[in-house]
Amino acid sequence: MEKILLKNIDTPKSADIDVYLNAGGYRGLTKAIELEPADIIEEVSTSGLKGRGGAGFPTAMKWRFASADPKFPKYLICNADEGEPGTFKDRSILEKNPHLLIEGMIISGIALGSVQGYIYLRGEYPEAKEILENSIRQAHDKNYLGNDILGKGKTFDISVYQGAGAYICGEETALIESIEGKRGQPRSKPPFPVNQGAWDMPTIVNNVETLSNIPYIVEIGGEKFAGIGSEECPGPKLFCVSGSVNKPGVYELPMGISLKEIIYDYAGGIKNNGTLKAVIPGGLSTPVLPANSIDCKMDFISMQEAGSMLGSGAVIVMDESVCMVKVAYRAMKFFEHESCGKCVPCREGTDWLRKVLERIENGKGRDEDIDLLMYVSGTMTGRTFCPLGDGAAGVVKALIHHFRNEFEDHIRAKKCTLTQN
Ligand code: SF4
Repeated sequence: MEKILLKNIDTPKSADIDVYLNAGGYRGLTKAIELEPADIIEEVSTSGLKGRGGAGFPTAMKWRFASADPKFPKYLICNADEGEPGTFKDRSILEKNPHLLIEGMIISGIALGSVQGYIYLRGEYPEAKEILENSIRQAHDKNYLGNDILGKGKTFDISVYQGAGAYICGEETALIESIEGKRGQPRSKPPFPVNQGAWDMPTIVNNVETLSNIPYIVEIGGEKFAGIGSEECPGPKLFCVSGSVNKPGVYELPMGISLKEIIYDYAGGIKNNGTLKAVIPGGLSTPVLPANSIDCKMDFISMQEAGSMLGSGAVIVMDESVCMVKVAYRAMKFFEHESCGKCVPCREGTDWLRKVLERIENGKGRDEDIDLLMYVSGTMTGRTFCPLGDGAAGVVKALIHHFRNEFEDHIRAKKCTLTQN
């Protein structure tokens, strides 16, 4: 498959607009500006594109809700708050192919009838901020952004807004609160952002990777795009592979490729000739899969059938030296720290889970602790305000489900029984 999103990743000065233009950049915009907004949305609908942030919601359906709302102004927000542990795919676009995202946002803005876009950027990405702001200036200079884009009477502009490092601001309503200058906590839904988002106006929040697919869809047509990857979830996908592999990195592959192929054919297999033990397939908040489950296809539907989630496509690979109690404990330290505290089951549940895991990890676990972990996780599932609580509970439940013996060994031996972790 030709590289689409990572086209310029190895090209020096790839953030330069002339490099991007030489690689065929802004052709999608040149075509889109001649189309009716409804025709652009129809093309995206035909492509079958689903949001790449983790939820996998059909992009065109989301766009249609906002587009049908008569209120104005409408806002387009790019969610670049890439904070899910194990995830670093958006960074490669932001730093190495920023004009692809900018072009995608301009086309999307035209399709939605929006004149103002924001890139909500992760606080820990200072280089990306500089690169994006410079690229936005270049796009202005070439008349791709601003008033009267390419002399066709359309207006669209982009501002970069940098977050302050809170994981929860990757949730779209918390992100909107933050961009409005408020504390980043999720809002109650409904109303949904498509009708009542930023400053109560119709707002589309799309992930970096989602928006970066738009120029290609417009350029080649939705039908051709739909022919890439799996039938139900078409298109290219960025997978970022980390952990116990020989070649960690970001790989652009067709959606629906098997998890096994990603690990062994692209990421070079398990390092030091080790044995695979488990994989977290879509970022830390997705349930772990044991080594014997990696024949599954990597798309939104197949991963659910396999008992996990595609999430952000962040594949965290663990070999036999990795202690699953430690994984659970470290994960829960993260979730406890990042819980915004708005709802009790998540605020208290992550704290309880962390405390119980901490004592098991420190050799002070009790026989009843595994049941207690399952009970507390159960009190959180389906009872929290946003997916953070559900995700945290799901991580513990899956680790105990697949590796209960390790938790039991820890409690019995009062220490980790693995030699290395
Ligand atoms: Fe906040 Fe957690 Fe409740 Fe989400 S689930 S609103 S992060 S307390």
